[in-house]
Amino acid sequence: MKKENVVAKKKFGQNFLKDESVLRKIVESMPKNDNKIVEIGPGLGDLTKFLVDVKSVEAFEVDTDLCKLLQDTFKKEIATKRLHFHCGDVLQAWQSSLIDEPYDLVANLPYYIATNIILKALEDPMCKNILVMVQLEVAEKFCATHGEKVFGSLGIITQSVGEAAIVVKVPPTAFDPQPKVDSAVFLIQKSRDRSDKDFERMLRVAFSQPRKTLMKNLSSEYEKPKLIDAFDALELTLTIRPHQLSTKDYHQLYKIL
Ligand code: SAM
Repeated sequence: MKKENVVAKKKFGQNFLKDESVLRKIVESMPKNDNKIVEIGPGLGDLTKFLVDVKSVEAFEVDTDLCKLLQDTFKKEIATKRLHFHCGDVLQAWQSSLIDEPYDLVANLPYYIATNIILKALEDPMCKNILVMVQLEVAEKFCATHGEKVFGSLGIITQSVGEAAIVVKVPPTAFDPQPKVDSAVFLIQKSRDRSDKDFERMLRVAFSQPRKTLMKNLSSEYEKPKLIDAFDALELTLTIRPHQLSTKDYHQLYKIL
């Protein structure tokens, strides 16, 4: 099959990035280090072309039609081991680490599993940095800081493992076919791995009803007198809402509870 004849498959979240200025911006924003690049969903290979120019790449693509096309397009890079392909579902291939050497994840992710992929990468000890395009709303949640309405467990988990920032917002016109939503590229620079499942369980309870008070949400899981003591110790008002606490507050609260 030729690249021009490919029909995008909705079920695989295929929106191919066509705007060269965004492709360049992604490559320019990559952290400078010796880590390998992992690309999830190379698609037609437009981003892959830029990536193999600067580093060796390990790519995971689920669509067998695209795998064939990519294996053809990148014959030379595959032969020289600049590029290594895995054809199949990345989530099934992902054990505790996706590959067995330090890597940065750089990708225009399939939106239907983007959050899942990022959470896996935050947990993966071999993954050092994450530079990905996702739906704008999702990028904002990962990059949010306390006080912002969208601050929630994704922001707290991210701040607990490193730093996150939006690199560039991208309109639907940059893609073919165009998605219905705005997108953004964002970068997470990890300094630790996501590991404390009990902390995350507390966060899920804390944000179970984001508009209710934190006290009300936590009361479903913890005894009220214990909560009142903890709020007192941290000088939190009893009416505080979940998004108003900082990541540090949540870690302190977790320690006390
Ligand atoms: N990187 C290309 C670009 O920027 O134009 C394509 C990006 S497109 C948004 C997402 C890509 O992820 C598609 O090629 C799709 O087939 C692939 N994909 C979807 N689900 C996947 C999965 N579970 N494992 C690996 N790749 C997947």
